[in-house]
Amino acid sequence: MSVPVSNSGDDKAPATNFIRGIINEDLRTGKNGDRVVTRFPPEPNGYLHIGHASSICLNFGIARDYPGAVCHLRFDDTNPETEEIEYVESIQNDVHWLGFDWKDKLFFASDYFEQLYGFAVMLIEAGKAYVDSLTEEEMRARRGTVNEPGTNSPHRDRSVAENLDLFARMRAGAFPDGAHTLRAKIDMASPNMLLRDPVLYRIKHAHHYRTGDAWCIYPLYDFAHPLSDAIEGVTHSICTLEFEVHRPLYDWLVENVPIAWDPRPRQHEFARRNLNYTVTSKRKLLRLVNEGYVDGWDDPRMPTIAGLRRRGYTAESIQAFCDRIGISRATGEDDIALLEYSIRDDLNHKAPRVMAVLDPLKVVITNFPEGKVEEHEASYWPHDVPKEGSRMVPFSRELFIEREDFMENPPRKFHRLSPGSEVRLRYAYIIRCTDVVKDAAGNILEVHCTYDPDTKSGGSGENRKVKGTIHWVSAAQAVPAEVRLYDRLFSRPDPEGDEGKTFLDNLNPTSRVVLTGALVEPGLAGAKPADRFQFERQGYFVVDPDTSAGRLVFNRIVTLRDTWAKISEKETPAAEGKAAEKKAPAEVVAARTRADVTQNLNAEATTALHRYIDELGLDLSEAEALVADSDLAGLFEATLALGHAPKAVAAWVVHVLPGALAGKSWSDAAPAAGAIGELIDLIEDGTLSTRIAKDVFGDMVATGKRAGEIVETRGLRQVSDSGALAPIVTSLMDRFPDKVAQYKDGKTGLIGFFVGEVMKETKGQANPQVVKDLLAEHLG
Ligand code: ATP
Ligand code: MG
Repeated sequence: MSVPVSNSGDDKAPATNFIRGIINEDLRTGKNGDRVVTRFPPEPNGYLHIGHASSICLNFGIARDYPGAVCHLRFDDTNPETEEIEYVESIQNDVHWLGFDWKDKLFFASDYFEQLYGFAVMLIEAGKAYVDSLTEEEMRARRGTVNEPGTNSPHRDRSVAENLDLFARMRAGAFPDGAHTLRAKIDMASPNMLLRDPVLYRIKHAHHYRTGDAWCIYPLYDFAHPLSDAIEGVTHSICTLEFEVHRPLYDWLVENVPIAWDPRPRQHEFARRNLNYTVTSKRKLLRLVNEGYVDGWDDPRMPTIAGLRRRGYTAESIQAFCDRIGISRATGEDDIALLEYSIRDDLNHKAPRVMAVLDPLKVVITNFPEGKVEEHEASYWPHDVPKEGSRMVPFSRELFIEREDFMENPPRKFHRLSPGSEVRLRYAYIIRCTDVVKDAAGNILEVHCTYDPDTKSGGSGENRKVKGTIHWVSAAQAVPAEVRLYDRLFSRPDPEGDEGKTFLDNLNPTSRVVLTGALVEPGLAGAKPADRFQFERQGYFVVDPDTSAGRLVFNRIVTLRDTWAKISEKETPAAEGKAAEKKAPAEVVAARTRADVTQNLNAEATTALHRYIDELGLDLSEAEALVADSDLAGLFEATLALGHAPKAVAAWVVHVLPGALAGKSWSDAAPAAGAIGELIDLIEDGTLSTRIAKDVFGDMVATGKRAGEIVETRGLRQVSDSGALAPIVTSLMDRFPDKVAQYKDGKTGLIGFFVGEVMKETKGQANPQVVKDLLAEHLG
């Protein structure tokens, strides 16, 4: 297994990743004496994201675990145009919040401008740098190619005196931008293009957020970075792999500036961490913010540290995630499910369980006296036996339950409330539904029930068995709340997609659904921003900073189960062989590489796995799920044989089916291949939206009915008729005049917001393409 283990709190010698291996070896040989100095060097041109968290945990983790080691926080701020103080502040805040401290080692490359200038002069004096006067174009033309050497600049042999004079005048502002550059004199024929006389300084008459107008020449990153490391006495300069080819230049500069560095810094590279279902490039994140696709850098859907924090992630869960993915030199993609697993795992024992009804349906207990209020004890930690703590929840004649916990015409396996049936109200009584009250249009207004007084805790019928238990709140005491249901920002694992699309085309239109009518138990009235709870049966939630007196706002951090599950989470009873603790969560399994997977497979399964990936184009996790479960594989093959596309079939068989089964046994729920094929056809011919298709699929599994029948009886056809959608679009324009104005001002990214609103209003039934066309018409 390649899952590394955290070293924190371990008193053994720190080890377990290859960078630490290098450090251990350097300590053994005494290369830098006993010094270990790392640094985290962000450029303040954006907020930190989850990829940076890896680098932070790596660098600051070393400082934490090695005696006497330190990690510097250095802002690599050599690029005046994109850097801002807002970013400097957010970065410091985020590093601290993640649980790390740079003590007094806070540095700025811009503080070294004078020193760096001095180093450049030394290189000129040694004949190792020269002022070039070629334009960027001309320089590029002479650079050569990978196979052909470059050509020397005609200015390459300027005298030292002339170079010194020109460089001094560059600094003094005598020339416009681009007139000259300072270049290292290395080798125009080097096979490493970066050594073909790289540019060290360029003229840029630009205001710097810290040095103001003091400079009009700025050092390039490749020059400033290694020398900043050297100035600070960094021993191990750890960066991502794209800098591997820069290492010879790093070394050249450290060696050719005539200073006896002690210690002499060395660069080590590891693979940049990428996360699926999101983007981790500051440039792309900046577009999401600037073009209004999200509300800001701390939008809870953003993979930024600030966004994750507002979403409700804990620092511990992010550290645990970084430990789980570890570091390596192999580029790969981490599964966001593993991040979600990390927060569930952390909150399981930290977030008290409470009751909240997100989509309320009124229940009247007709045999309970009017005006009477009982208090029932409810544990905050029902599944955490040693942990104590409970509160009293009020119970009265009028309650609210989750609308989806009642069905008038339930399928066979529906164990919640329906006419004539019984269900247990968590921590209170068993109730039986006696009546359903509807309005003229047939909408259910309320449900009438009777309760069995013997069934409360301590009563004679306390242990009477009913199949389902549901959560509820008492109508008079419940507190209204706004609940923001967040989901993944992108609907594809690789948001860049293929077919010439960009990440902006693959935003998940339901990444945020706002519920304004939720009701929570009264004890939550005083909840403060950042307080976290588990809403029973719903997921983990955090109080959002938008909360104010009289307005409670919750964000859903994560659902209780992985609804995007890639792998069947079938429970294997401990008795069936493997010890319980050996059973890795599905999400952890999904983060493995192909080699990790095949290691545990026999020859036949290995061949199948390669075929799934190489011939049929499935993801590793999809292929792994299929080889692990012969029922799934059989259904997959049978549906494929009907002529459907492998990816589409895998989407249902691997991603949706296990979730829809939700613990039911496979044999009494398996829809036949033909039924899945029919569902895929209904999506492809536009009858069903993908979103609704998931509900239909759940029904298919629950009832054994065919997709077509469910679509007709439930009236779920996708709405593609623009006549029917137009009024919704028009009312949207009226409701959000400011957003319309912003759109017309060029924030065209808001199209995603508008589409999302229409999808919400139509409960996912609108055809998104028709909606987009209508919006384009209305917005001009
Ligand atoms: P981006 O591509 O998002 O702009 P960057 O590398 O330009 O990232 P910096 O501010 O220069 O951003 O990054 C600071 C440090 O974080 C660097 O050492 C960089 O290598 C590291 N880092 C950035 N992104 C990742 C990532 N996805 N995984 C691991 N380390 C990262
Ligand atoms: Mg960078």
